[in-house]
Amino acid sequence: MKRWMVLPIVLLSVLWLISASWAQQNAPVVAPVTMIRAGVLIDGVSGSARRDAIITIRGNLIADVTDGGAIIPTNIPAGVTLIDLSQATVLPGLIDAHTHIFLQGEDPAEGGYDIQLLKYSLAFRAARATVSVRRALEQGFTTLRDMETEGAGYGDVGIKQAIEGGYIPGPRLFVSTRAISTTGGYPLEGYAPEIEVPKGVQIVDGPVEARKAAREQLDHGADWIKVYMTHRSWISKTGDLVSQPTLTVEELRAIVDETHGWGKKVACHAYGGEGLQRALDGGCDSIEHGLALTDAQIAQMVRQGTWLCATLNIYYEGWAPADTPAGQRDRKRASVHEESFRKALKAGVKIAFGTDIGGMPWTESIAQEFPRMVELGMTPMQAIQSATSRAAELLEMKGRLGAIVPGAYADVVAVSGDPLANIKILENVGFVMKDGKVFKNEIVLKGKLPN
Ligand SMILES: [Zn+2]
Repeated sequence: MKRWMVLPIVLLSVLWLISASWAQQNAPVVAPVTMIRAGVLIDGVSGSARRDAIITIRGNLIADVTDGGAIIPTNIPAGVTLIDLSQATVLPGLIDAHTHIFLQGEDPAEGGYDIQLLKYSLAFRAARATVSVRRALEQGFTTLRDMETEGAGYGDVGIKQAIEGGYIPGPRLFVSTRAISTTGGYPLEGYAPEIEVPKGVQIVDGPVEARKAAREQLDHGADWIKVYMTHRSWISKTGDLVSQPTLTVEELRAIVDETHGWGKKVACHAYGGEGLQRALDGGCDSIEHGLALTDAQIAQMVRQGTWLCATLNIYYEGWAPADTPAGQRDRKRASVHEESFRKALKAGVKIAFGTDIGGMPWTESIAQEFPRMVELGMTPMQAIQSATSRAAELLEMKGRLGAIVPGAYADVVAVSGDPLANIKILENVGFVMKDGKVFKNEIVLKGKLPN
């Protein structure tokens, strides 16, 4: 071979190798196809259920939703996996927009809240959080907005990473890391002033510290910033439920301004009164709990598009005896909450499903929130949508989560029976698929056909 020929040949070979590897990388990847035959489909978006639908899933996405469930078994294309849920009601994976995977119910007899921070290592708490997320997924909750780690730092970011890496099963997590309150605005409390105790949140005083805390949390992976705008609650001399305000409007504005700049949102724990008013005036995106909402505050929420994540059920749990101040407070909280929820619903406030689970043990049913919402005026379909398409909207995942529509992630659950007739059925989710993968299937060809 002549020496002048060597260079062109080498160049050509290199070009051939590049193009071959390019072709390999860009060859169409054949994603596995799954078809779900749904006896009844509640797609999370439309106002009514439909019968006999076929959901086609390609990889981790929903490709198509069509009618014709009755004919499919005789007509399945080769290589397609069929999941027969023709005897069940199929829904989008559920979303709980207010959880605490790092809390475990805090039984006072077992040391309450304080023991978590004082005696338990982060590794121990993280191990228990892996159980919490698994419990949520088993119950059909394929997405959680977790509302702070209660002293476990950035542990939620780690749990999310482990789920996304496939190391542990769990829902999609939107995490808020450490949360923010002010001096005198969060436990641990009641220790001698000479002793420095850990706090369940990051404490800030002044707009500069507030903005810095938001920056730190966003920098370390917070999807949301959680702010405590009220602290504790009691009954005033005039018989009203009151709660201590924490951040000033200026402090909250610094957080909201910073967080919105990062394209993220701010959730405000607020029971009522001055603190809740500051939350609204400071531009909060979602009010958590909102126990005592005035008509003017409800109107302001509608005007500003503020979400309400009410977490009703937890305020019925563990009431102190009726003849104690705490017991009277507990009963008052539930009664004003009921009224606020009814009024907010009627006024058209955007409502997302949330439970505060973790505040109650993870052995409890997350879906027990649904009957509360229905008792207080929601239709079963509204309650379902609050945990599907509406919650997805809160998370800015409209059309991607909380919906069985083409282009959405294949998060699909099923129950035996008709949840529109009996919402409690959602406490028994028998089939769970997340991201196109079946996590649990105990329902196929069991149960009776919904009417
Ligand atoms: Zn909470």
